[in-house]
Amino acid sequence: MIEEPEIPFINAHAHHSFPEGVIGIRNYAQNESFQAMDKDLASYGLHPWFIRESKIEENIQKLKQLLDQDRLVAIGECGLDKICKTNLIVQQVVFGHQIRLAVEYSKPMLIHSVRTNNMIIQAYDKYRPAKPWILHGFNGNRQQIEELSERNFYFSLGGMLLKDKTKIRETICFIPSDRLLFETDNSNLPVTEIYKTASDLLNIPINELKKQIFNNFATCFSIDNLK
Ligand SMILES: [Zn+2]
Repeated sequence: MIEEPEIPFINAHAHHSFPEGVIGIRNYAQNESFQAMDKDLASYGLHPWFIRESKIEENIQKLKQLLDQDRLVAIGECGLDKICKTNLIVQQVVFGHQIRLAVEYSKPMLIHSVRTNNMIIQAYDKYRPAKPWILHGFNGNRQQIEELSERNFYFSLGGMLLKDKTKIRETICFIPSDRLLFETDNSNLPVTEIYKTASDLLNIPINELKKQIFNNFATCFSIDNLK
């Protein structure tokens, strides 16, 4: 009898590499050096927190150079943040550069959004990208979930799911199952903990959830042969 191969856990967005049994996307911000020899799938982008106006041109050129690499499966994390120090107009300009590159090179985008979901939707409607946008660290309400899922957005859920009384614990059930992803972002939390909590909240056995998230990940990032 041939045993079915074990389906890996997926970590859609992390700032570190992954343990055995986990496949994920390792994120590099503009102030980190992209490790060309590393084998993990990767994303690279200009994060709103770290924008330095004198470096924008250089960072965008660096991003362009990396876009031909097979393991660079997404642009990001990038986006908008109303509570960070970087001027919002500057953030929008930098985000716009990255959106146009994502459209040109047909890459999904990993989005950082703090109190700017409406602006993100406006940008999406303006550019109508062919590839999905993933809202990372999502903790939104039901109405936002509906608006975003009418468009090709994915929802990547992380540590907020484990905290008491967060919005996302109430609203996870409204996220379409084929748009759901999990992540650990910059925490040391094992991604398996997110799976366990989501499995409880959604009342879906963990093996079923693993299959669903694996398929979502492959579809979202157009990855054909995940091992
Ligand atoms: Zn992050």
